Amino acid sequence: MPNFLFRCAKVAARTLTPRTAASRAAGAAAVVLLSLTLSACGGDASGNGDSEKPVVLTTFTVLADVARNVAGDKLTVESITKAGAEIHGYEPTPGDIRKASKADLILDNGLNLEAWFGQFVEGLDVPHAVVSDGVEVMSISEDSYQGKPNPHAWMSPVNVQIYVDNMVKAFSALDPDNAAAFQANGDAYKAELQAVQDEMKASLAGVPEKQRALVTCEGAFSYLARDAGLREVYIWAVNAEQQATPQQITRAIEYVRTNRVPAVFCESTVSDAPMQQVVGATGTKFGGVLYVDSLSEADGPVPTYLDLIRHDADLITKALTGTSASATASASTSGQAKS
Ligand SMILES: [Zn+2]
Repeated sequence: MPNFLFRCAKVAARTLTPRTAASRAAGAAAVVLLSLTLSACGGDASGNGDSEKPVVLTTFTVLADVARNVAGDKLTVESITKAGAEIHGYEPTPGDIRKASKADLILDNGLNLEAWFGQFVEGLDVPHAVVSDGVEVMSISEDSYQGKPNPHAWMSPVNVQIYVDNMVKAFSALDPDNAAAFQANGDAYKAELQAVQDEMKASLAGVPEKQRALVTCEGAFSYLARDAGLREVYIWAVNAEQQATPQQITRAIEYVRTNRVPAVFCESTVSDAPMQQVVGATGTKFGGVLYVDSLSEADGPVPTYLDLIRHDADLITKALTGTSASATASASTSGQAKS
């Protein structure tokens, strides 16, 4: 597991290796060490009174939902950031750090998604695993991020199957007694991921060739656009402090005008004001709110990752083919966009 950092295991290995390595095969010793130290360096962070179950924290809600599908009822899974939060430049609270210090495992996306994560885990003695390890990474093609990995790999359900494999490995190291359950849960969920991928592609295949442009606020849809055969256009590459410059908005306006794009979109975790400027300047429709960096609350439109993919594919298909009754709805009425 090259990309997994097990800090506690490293510390304990120095003290435990001599006596275990002498009596066991190297591989078996490593497994024993890992399970010993993982259980020793964790604690109960759930605050829900269920001190029996190991606690897994994820950096955002999408990972938490996927992780719950793999964990089943064996682990307690919680997200550090809440539904609707901006996740790239999140500023962890003292409460987040306290909670994380008592967790048994932390899962992050990696690919530079969580700009805050390195500093967040620096002082923590808790293992973490990078769930995007092994996906085929796409690069960002514009702006100051050019050539850097696009971190939104989960927008391809095929990639999330790899996320699931990484979670099965990490959970099995954390809780070896339940390894078979994690494997079975992971296999069942991977079948659902494949089904939603097939649905998404079939839905978007119905968009005529001339209308196959997906214009969004953040460049977060590269993987979905690749899978579904859409052209991806965005105002800014990655959510950050400096975004939606006049040049970026002008570039989007010109693209929409030149290509007569029928509808444009923005995401739930950012203001749609820049995209409404594009709408105002071009007369195109606002196609609605897409979800990518966060799920909705439980009673919202995308309480799960599978809902997120279905919702986005449906919204894009309807808006680009002109069959959506709510194509002019604004993100500001969704209750998710920040001002
Ligand atoms: Zn993002």
